Amino acid sequence: MNAVTEVKRYKRSRQRERILSLLQSTKTHPTAAWVYDSLKKELPGLSLGTVYRNLGILSDQGLVRVLQAGSTFDRFDADVSQHYHCICENCGKVEDVLVPVSPDLEAQAERQLGHPVTGHRLDFYGLCSECSAQNA
Ligand code: ZN
Ligand code: MN
Repeated sequence: MNAVTEVKRYKRSRQRERILSLLQSTKTHPTAAWVYDSLKKELPGLSLGTVYRNLGILSDQGLVRVLQAGSTFDRFDADVSQHYHCICENCGKVEDVLVPVSPDLEAQAERQLGHPVTGHRLDFYGLCSECSAQNA
């Protein structure tokens, strides 16, 4: 490969490292747009497109979990351990819910379906503490 490709590759992986460490430094489950806004001054070559591409690679590498939000923007979580989330119905804040994951849940689903399942997803909904206080 020629030098230009080498430089490009290096630059991309440096961006990726910064994106990963930013995600590891926050508990807010940010969107790609937030990641882009936070890093664009530091990484002038960054675009929203490269942020999305790097997040896709990090997800492929198993370093980042994508929280698919359906009609709204996906959020990203550097905590790839099995855990659940609560989504605020007012402001969209995503919080970790550290209740124990039932080891029997997937086995129960498999028994009912009659075929293997590979995983499960569970989201809680409600008003976060700030929004609850406002509504009180
Ligand atoms: Zn809220
Ligand atoms: Mn999380």
